Amino acid sequence: MTSDLRDLYQEVIFDHYKRPRNNRALEEANHHAQGHNPLCGDKVTIYVKVDDGVIQDVAFEGSGCAIATASASMMTEALKGRKLEDVEKLFHGFHDMVTSPPDAESPPLGKLDALRGVREFPARVKCATLAWHTLQAALRAHDHPVSTE
Ligand code: ZN
Repeated sequence: MTSDLRDLYQEVIFDHYKRPRNNRALEEANHHAQGHNPLCGDKVTIYVKVDDGVIQDVAFEGSGCAIATASASMMTEALKGRKLEDVEKLFHGFHDMVTSPPDAESPPLGKLDALRGVREFPARVKCATLAWHTLQAALRAHDHPVSTE
């Protein structure tokens, strides 16, 4: 990666940190979960509204470091309008991207590529993946209809 690209990526991360997208509670959410990364102190709540197997809306609240906040913000942008079956693939693609050795090839992931540099900082990987793990938990939490009967 050239230093220009590196600067650009840092700019993207900083922008998402300073002005996080979809940073709010989602009233209409039918899935939500809380995540915590004790190593860094990042906390996040992910809200998802799923209809017909498609993510109609997704938002987050929480407090975290720049990487955790930017990653959650970018994730919400990447997920809107996605089918649930694609979300799993995206999660694995993202996870591979940030955990692969620095010189390993990994498929491009569009805007999420801005976080590719995290792989060079193993201590930050959990910051970058917190929102994604919390999303998985949220989507699993209500797999079965909840009944009070
Ligand atoms: Zn963090």
